[in-house]
Amino acid sequence: MIDLKKIISHSKEYGFVFPSSEIYDGLSATYDYGPFGVELKNNIKKHWWQSMVYEHENIVGLDSAIFMHPLIWKASGHVDAFNDPLVDNKDSKKRYRADALIEDQLVKFQQKINKEIKKGEKRFGSKFEIVTFQKTNARILKYNDKIKNSKEKLNAALEKSDMNALNELISDLEIRCPVSGTSNWTEVRTFNLMFDTQLGAVADESNKLYLRPETAQGIFVNFLNVQKSARKKIPFGIAQIGKAFRNEIVARQFIFRMREFEQMEMQFFVKPGQEIEWYQFWKQSRMEWHKSLNLCQGNYKFHDHSNLAHYANAACDIEYEFPIGFKELEGIHSRTNYDLSQHQNYSKKKLSYFDSESNESYLPYVVETSVGLDRLFLSVLCGSFAEETVNNEKRTVLKLPNYLAPISVAILPLLKKDGLDDYARNLFNDLKIKFPCHYEDKDSIGKRYRRQDAIGTPLCITIDHDTLIDKKITIRDRDTMLQERVSISNLSDLIKERIGS
Ligand code: ATP
Repeated sequence: MIDLKKIISHSKEYGFVFPSSEIYDGLSATYDYGPFGVELKNNIKKHWWQSMVYEHENIVGLDSAIFMHPLIWKASGHVDAFNDPLVDNKDSKKRYRADALIEDQLVKFQQKINKEIKKGEKRFGSKFEIVTFQKTNARILKYNDKIKNSKEKLNAALEKSDMNALNELISDLEIRCPVSGTSNWTEVRTFNLMFDTQLGAVADESNKLYLRPETAQGIFVNFLNVQKSARKKIPFGIAQIGKAFRNEIVARQFIFRMREFEQMEMQFFVKPGQEIEWYQFWKQSRMEWHKSLNLCQGNYKFHDHSNLAHYANAACDIEYEFPIGFKELEGIHSRTNYDLSQHQNYSKKKLSYFDSESNESYLPYVVETSVGLDRLFLSVLCGSFAEETVNNEKRTVLKLPNYLAPISVAILPLLKKDGLDDYARNLFNDLKIKFPCHYEDKDSIGKRYRRQDAIGTPLCITIDHDTLIDKKITIRDRDTMLQERVSISNLSDLIKERIGS
C-alpha cells in the first residue's frame, strides 16, 4: 500500500492540493485545490451528477443555501447531539477524540496478533496451521478477547453518550498519549462539532447561525418545494453537492478529514414499508458505482452498522482501503421519516405527501447516500498512483480513469521551430474547444511525457517534421506508453473514443 506522505507531496508538487494559507504557516485541516486538483474534483462531481441525476429519471438536483434557519439544526438533533467525545493529555496538551484513541489502541492489539502469527510461521515453517494457531495461542486469545470486549463497550458508550464508560475504557486499556507517552488524561467530555456565527450586527443567542454540518437538511426542508415544482411522484430522489463544515477534534489525515469539505448526497423518498428494499438497492448500486471507476488499487468493503442511530433502521458504510487502512468513503442510511417528522413538528408546516395511487397521505421514508467528495478525490488519487521503472528510469504515473483526468490531451511539438510549433498551436486551438487540452513546447519530449504522466493525462500528441508532410501525428497512451501514428483527419473521434465517459 502506498504511503500517504507520497500522495501529499505529489499533490502539492503537481498542483492538485495545497495546504491552505500556506504562506501564513497554514490552517490545520483545511486545503486548497490547485489547477489540476480543481479539474479532477469538477470531473468527479460531473461524473457523480451524471450517474445520479441524469441517468435516473426520478432524481432531480438542488443547491440549497449553507446558512439555514437555526431551528433546523435543533429539529435535526445536531444542536443537542452532534457531539464527539473529547479528551486532553495534560502533559502534551494535545487534544484527542476519545473513541479514536480507543480504536487506535485496538489496532495496536491487532498488530500484536499479526506479529504473533509471523513468529509462529517462522517457528513452525511448513507445518504452520494458522487457524489452529489462532485458536490455541494464549496471547492471541487474550488480545482477541480484549478487542471484542472493548469494541462492545465502546459502541455501547457512544450510543448512550456515556462519557464515564469512555474514561474507564481509556484507563482499562492503559492508553498513553502518542506525544507525551503518559496517561495523564482529563475527563472525557462532549464537544459539539458545529461552527456557529452571527446573523446581522447584534450578537446574541437568537441571532446564532450554524455553518451546515451536512447538506442533507437543505434537502429535507425543500422536500415539498422540489416534489411539487418538479412534479415528482414517490419514489423519487433529490441530489445535492455542496460544502459542509465540522469542527473536527482531530483532523490530521490530509483531505480525508477536514473542517471544511464537500458532500455529494442524495435523499431518496419512498413509501413507508418499502425503505429496506430501496436501502438494499442503493447499497449495491453505490458499491457498483465505486467499483466501476476501475482504479488500479480499488479495494472496497461494506461495514454494516450493528448499532444504529435512533432514527435509522438500517445503515452501512462503503469503506475504501486508504493508505491509513479501510475507512469510510460513503454512508448509506435508511433514515425512516425521522427528519421530515422533526421538521414538521418544529416548523408546524405539513410535509406529508399525497399518494394518488393509494389515495392516502403519509410522511415518506428516506434512504440516503452520502459520499464525501474530498474522500472520493483521495481514493481516486491513491487508487491511480503508480511508480514504475521504464528503461532504468522511475516514472510516476496517475492512471486515472480517462474521463476524470484533469487534461485529456497534451499537444507537444517535438521542436519549438521549423513550423512544428505553429502546426501544434493550430491543432491545439482546434482541439481545445472539444477537450481539456494542454500545449507544451519546453523541455525534452521525454520530460514532457513524464510530467503529463504525473498529472494523469491519458493522451499525448506529438508533432514532428513528418507531420508537416503526411498530416499524421504520434499519439501516446499514458498507461501502455504505446505510440501510434494516426492521421489528423479523424483525430477528434479517436480522442473521444479513448477518453470515454
Ligand atoms: P466519520 O465517521 O469518518 O467522521 P461520518 O460517519 O461522520 O464520518 P457522515 O456524517 O456519514 O460521516 O458523512 C457522509 C460522508 O461525508 C462521509 O462518508 C465522508 O465521506 C464525508 N465526511 C464526513 N466528515 C468529513 C470530514 N471531516 N472531512 C471530509 N469528509 C468528510
